[in-house]
Amino acid sequence: LRPMSALASTATSYPTTHERIEKPEDTPYFVDNEFRPSQTDKFIELHDPATNNLVTRVPQLTKAELQAAVDSAQRAFPEWRAKSVLARQQIMFKYVSLIRENWDRLAASITLEQGKTFADARGDVLRGLQVAEAACGAPEYLKGEVLEVAKDMETRSYREPLGVVAAICPFNFPAMIPLWCIPIATVTGNTVVLKPSERDPGAAMILVELAKEAGFPEGVINVVHGAHDTVNFLLDAPEIKAISFVGGNKAGEYIFSRGSANGKRVQANLGAKNHAAVMPDCNKNQFINAIVGAAFGAAGQRCMALSTLVMVGETKEWLTELAESAKKLQVNGGFEEGADLGPVITPQSKARIESLIASAEEEGATILLDGRGFKPEKYPNGNWVGPTIITNVTKDMKCYTEEIFGPVLVCLNVDTLDEAIDLINQNEYGNGTAIFTRSGATAEKFRRNIEAGQVGINVPIPVPLPMFSFTGNKKSVAGGGANTFYGRPGVNFYTQQKTVTALWSSADAISKKADVAMPTHS
Ligand code: NAD
Repeated sequence: LRPMSALASTATSYPTTHERIEKPEDTPYFVDNEFRPSQTDKFIELHDPATNNLVTRVPQLTKAELQAAVDSAQRAFPEWRAKSVLARQQIMFKYVSLIRENWDRLAASITLEQGKTFADARGDVLRGLQVAEAACGAPEYLKGEVLEVAKDMETRSYREPLGVVAAICPFNFPAMIPLWCIPIATVTGNTVVLKPSERDPGAAMILVELAKEAGFPEGVINVVHGAHDTVNFLLDAPEIKAISFVGGNKAGEYIFSRGSANGKRVQANLGAKNHAAVMPDCNKNQFINAIVGAAFGAAGQRCMALSTLVMVGETKEWLTELAESAKKLQVNGGFEEGADLGPVITPQSKARIESLIASAEEEGATILLDGRGFKPEKYPNGNWVGPTIITNVTKDMKCYTEEIFGPVLVCLNVDTLDEAIDLINQNEYGNGTAIFTRSGATAEKFRRNIEAGQVGINVPIPVPLPMFSFTGNKKSVAGGGANTFYGRPGVNFYTQQKTVTALWSSADAISKKADVAMPTHS
C-alpha cells in the first residue's frame, strides 16, 4: 500500500486538479514502516473542500491498531536512542533532501485535502522543512555543560530522550505541524506516534513514506488516525511520555489537563485572535498589502492570521481603500492559476463563519465587504466564503470575542496608541500581534508593553523561523507557554536533563573520616 494509492503519486507525478476521484481509497495507517489498512468499521469521510467530492475515508482505528502503533514505537526506542546522534543526523539530512524533492507532491496533497492554494501549500511544506533542516543541528543542540565544581570533582549535564512521544495535529497546516514534531522528537532519540488531523492526513502519510525512504528504522515514526477516541487512547497510554498538541482551545485545554494529570509532559499551542495596531504615520500602501495577505491568505485559517485591526485616529478612513484591495482577491479552487484563497475546510465551518458575520450585523456592526454567498463558477459546491470586512466593531460583539478562523477581518477604532495597547492586552488570546508605524519610539513602546508572544513591527505574521521558537502567550498556549515548539526549547521539551557529579581523586587525598555535614565550599 502506498499512502494514497488512489492518487498514484511519485515525486514527479501527483494529482493537480479538483476532478472527482473515480475510486477513492481509504487512508491506511503506518506502523513498523508499513502502510496497513484498518479493520475498523468506523470511517470519517474526507471531502475536497473545493468540490465536496469524496477524496478518501479516514479510519477511526481500533484499540488493537492503536496499541500496535504504541508497541511498535516502544520496541524501536532502545535501539534508536542507542544510535549516535551523528547517525540520526545523517538520516535527517536524507529526510530533508527527500522532502525537498517531494515538495510539490506534498503541496498538491494539501491543496486537495485542505483547500489552500498550491502556492500557499508550498509555503506550508517549507515552514516544516525548515524545522527538519534546523534539526540537523542536533549535535550542537544536544551538547551538555561541564564545570569543575570542586577539587577533582566535576558536574556534567546530558540531554536524554524521553521515550515514546505523541503528536496530535490540526487541519490547517497538514505538513508544517507534523514537521514541528517529527524531526526534533526523532533526532533527539525519541520514537513517535503521530495523529494527523482526520480532516487532511495525506501530507503526513507522504511524510512517513519519505521517512522510511530516508532510513528511519521500523517503529521510530508511526501514524495513527481517528478523532476523540484516538486522542483519549494516546492521553492514557502509559508508554507515552509526552504529548505535543496544536489546535483549538476546547480540545487543547482538555488534552493539557488529561495529559498532565497522567504525568506526561504536554506542549499545547491553541487558538488566537491576532490584532494589528495601525498608526497614522505608517506607510499606508505597505499596511494595506500586508493586511490583505495576512487576513485573507489561507482563507484566514492560520493561527497567526491577522484577523483584527485596531485603527488608531484617522486611519479608520483607510478602510474603504483596504476593502477595494481585498475585493480584487481571486477566490477559487487552489489548483487554479491566480487563485489567492481557496475554500474553508468544511460546510460546517462555512456555516459557522457566516453565522458570525450575521451576528455582527445583528449587533450593529457594518459589513463593509460581504463574502457570503460567493461561488466561483467552476466549483459551485465548495465551502466558499469571500473576503469579508466588518467595521465599527466593539469589544462585546461575538465576532470579536470568538476566533472566527475564516477570511473575515474585524475592525475596531481607538484614538491613541495607549488605547490600542490596552485593548489588545485585554483580549484573552496572545498568540501574535503587529504594529504598523514609521516611528521607532512608537514601535518600541508597543513592543515593551504588549502582552502577545510574537510581535511584528511592520510585519503582519511574525512567526519566528526555527532557530527561534514559536512563542504564543496567554490563552493561546496551555500551561503558561512553558513548553514551546521547535528551536532550543523544542529540543528541551523532547529531552530529559541528567546531571552527573563525579569525583576522581587519588586515594591519599580522600579524607579518613566521614563528612556528615553538607559541604560548604569554603
Ligand atoms: P481542533 O482542536 O479541532 O483539532 C486539533 C486536533 O485535536 C485534531 O487532531 C482533532 O482530531 C483533535 N480533537 C479535536 N477535538 C477534540 C476533542 N474534543 N477531544 C480530543 N481531541 C480532539 O483544531 P483544528 O480545527 O484542527 O485547527 C484549528 C485550530 O488550531 C484553531 O483554533 C487555530 O488557532 C489552532 N492552531 C493553533 C496554532 C498555534 O500554534 N497556536 C497553529 C495552528 C492551529
